[in-house]
This record gives sequence, structure tokens and C-alpha cells, in this order.
Amino acid sequence: MNDNSILASIITIGDELLIGQTIDTNSAWIATELNKVGIHVKRRVAVGDVWDDIWQTLEEEGEQAPIVLITGGLGPTSDDITKPLLCQFFEGELIVDKQALENVKNIFEKLLNRPLLERNLKQAEVPSTCQVIQNKRGTAPGMWFEKHGTIYISMPGVPHEMKGMMMDYVIPAFKRQFNLVPIQHRTLLTAGIGESFLADLLIQFEENLPSSIKLAYLPNYGMVRLRLSCQNPLVSIEELNNMFANLKELVKDYLVIDEDLSLQETIARILIQQKKTLAIAESCTGGYISHLITAIPGSSAFFKGGIISYANEAKIDTLDVPEDIIAQFGAVSLETVEKMAEGIRLKMKTDFALATSGIMGPGGGTDTKPVGFVCIAFSSEFKTESTTLQFRFDRQRNIELTAAHSLNFLRKKVG
Ligand code: ATP
Repeated sequence: MNDNSILASIITIGDELLIGQTIDTNSAWIATELNKVGIHVKRRVAVGDVWDDIWQTLEEEGEQAPIVLITGGLGPTSDDITKPLLCQFFEGELIVDKQALENVKNIFEKLLNRPLLERNLKQAEVPSTCQVIQNKRGTAPGMWFEKHGTIYISMPGVPHEMKGMMMDYVIPAFKRQFNLVPIQHRTLLTAGIGESFLADLLIQFEENLPSSIKLAYLPNYGMVRLRLSCQNPLVSIEELNNMFANLKELVKDYLVIDEDLSLQETIARILIQQKKTLAIAESCTGGYISHLITAIPGSSAFFKGGIISYANEAKIDTLDVPEDIIAQFGAVSLETVEKMAEGIRLKMKTDFALATSGIMGPGGGTDTKPVGFVCIAFSSEFKTESTTLQFRFDRQRNIELTAAHSLNFLRKKVG
């Protein structure tokens, strides 16, 4: 944040958020989008469906920032008390909004082919003191209020409805209303070096950074993203680019890509450029790496498929891993994982293949192959190479780290 920032506060409403049943993804998404346009989120508050708590939170957050964004609690059920509360807080009375009513009728009668209940009709009621934000993706309208110089915007809790309103209406309105200075970001991805070692490497660089340019460390599963940000219109793009070039030079031994891309997106780009294809045989990762790959739009251009060869028989029957290799070296061994990679490459007729086999825990470890011990292999027409990894976390994190390290192994081989 700097002096040019417009501040915002986010309130998320719902008992389900407080008991952990729903993870509050709304405020993370809102914060990201506001950040992009130069609005700084000062506070995020989650509050239950309790009248006095919501009331007090509205008062408190209104004192913190000129923009207060609220999600949740607008539904047709009795625990959704936000709307009557907003009506009282902003001193209005509930009136039917014609366009919102049309929308509710349209959704029930035409799209859902269901009769409208009284409680559904109530969805079209809004406080007379608000400006209505129509909901193109659902029934509950959004509401824009202003009080003592603060803008309060209430939106439904359903994430895709809230996102539609933010993108179609709220953010464009903020752009018109405020003199926003967008935050400039330059991001790169590193692998193979921990956050604290990176920080050591960058002590001098950080000391020399002008106060208007900030460096952020964003670690995630063995990778660290480094982001330079600047929101000062007096700092030129060229100055930021120069700083970024210096940063790149300092971390060049660990650099994966100098853009805001994930490791799997980086691999996708490389394989598409090279017109090469990939297949994956997964044992301990259970399809997780294939999931990361197929989550990338356009991955069919290079990814032919994967096999989850979890049991020994699956490795033997589907990937042609020789039985005696497994008997002699074990399912978690460099010898087996190399045969898995070769097997899937030949079966799927791809240029490259990746394979994983490991002990994810909590049970199954031995003295020589403890929990967290993993073998991974890469295979191409010219060579098959493998390596071991050792993690020391719980099952889920071991799986995620295996996926990240396997993808990085693949990247180094194809990059
Ligand atoms: P609607 O009128 O469409 O029901 P609403 O405003 O009443 O919307 P809620 O009833 O609070 O919204 O929540 C609707 C859905 O949105 C629920 O499935 C809930 O889990 C989800 N949801 C609510 N708040 C959040 C949040 N902060 N992050 C992610 N999901 C949320």
C-alpha cells in the first residue's frame, strides 16, 4: 500500500464461514481483483448470521475504509437476516424492485420451470435507500448504499454470482468514481531454493529498492514466486523493468519463468512450442499431476493421458513393468519407476513421459524407504532418467510436493 491507495474492507457473512464448513474464497477473490485495479484491502472480517454482530461490523468497517464490500446472507431462508438489517442500517423500507422481480420470475418460471414461492418473491425486495445491482446469474440482487461518505456494497454469497456483479458492475463503477492508480506487478517463479535462502541472496537488492517498489515472496510447494509491485505513478515502467532485470539476474540459477505462470503452465507452453506430447504414469500421486495438467485450458494439445498404476498388478499389466523388477527392487524404486515411465511412453506413443512411485504415509515406511520417500522418472526416446526425493510431511502435503518436484524435474528435462 502507499499514499495513492484507495482502501477497502471486506465483510463476509454466514455461520457456515465461522464453523469452517464453507471456506471464505470470496474475500480472497475480491481482494485479488481490487488489488489489480489499485484498491488496497485493509481488513477482512467474517461474521455469523447474528443481527448485533453484523450491525457492529458495518459500523466498525465503515470507519476503516471508504469502500465496504459485503457478501452472503441475502438468501430466501430465515437465517438470512442481512437484507432487513441493511434496510434498517441505511434507514429505508423494503420495496419491490421491478427489474429484480422480472429476473426472479424469469429464473423460476422459464429456466427452472418451478412455481414461485412467496419467499422467492421476497428476493426482489430491496431497501429503498439502495441502488440495485442486478444479478444476471441468480435471484438475489446486489445493493449499493452510501452513508457518511462510505460506499457499502452487499452481494450474494454464491461465488459466481458475486463475481459476475463485481466484474460487470462494481469494478467498472469504482474505475469511474475513483482516480485509481493501478498496481504494476512483475513476477517470476523460482524452484529449487527455499524462501529464506532466497532472502539471503537478495539482501543487497532489497536494501537498494526504492521505497515505492515492494518485493514479495510468495512460496508454494517448493517453488517461490517473487513479485515486484509499484503503485506510484512517478515511478516509470522502465525503472520497474530495470529492477526486475536485476532481480532475474540474481536468481538466474533458480529461475523457472519470468512471468506470472505456474510450473505446469510453463511446461504446457514449452511442450506446445516444441510440438511434443506427454503421458504420465502415477502411483503415489494418484492422478494429481494429471489433474494439474488437465486443469490448464488447451492441455489436449500436448497431454495424451495418464494411468494410475497403484497396485503392483496395474504396473505389470498396464505398463509392462517386468514382475521381477518389482520383486527384486520393490514398487518404490528407481528401477520400477523408470520402467513405468518407459511403459507409459510406449503405450501412449508420446515424446515424453513422467512417472511417480512413493510412500506417502502415514503407514508403509521402512528403515530404508521411510514415509515421504519418492522415486520419479522421466523418459524420452533418447533417455530415461530418475531420481529420489524425501519429504517429511503428512500424506496430502507429500502428494502435493511430489507433484511439484516431478513437474520441475520434467521441466528441466524438456526446457
Ligand atoms: P443466495 O441468495 O443466492 O442464496 P446468499 O447471499 O444468501 O445468496 P449465502 O446463503 O450466504 O448467500 O451463501 C450461498 C452459498 O454461497 C453457499 O453455498 C455458501 O457456502 C457460499 N458462500 C457464502 N459465502 C461465501 C464465501 N465468503 N466464500 C465462498 N463461498 C461462500
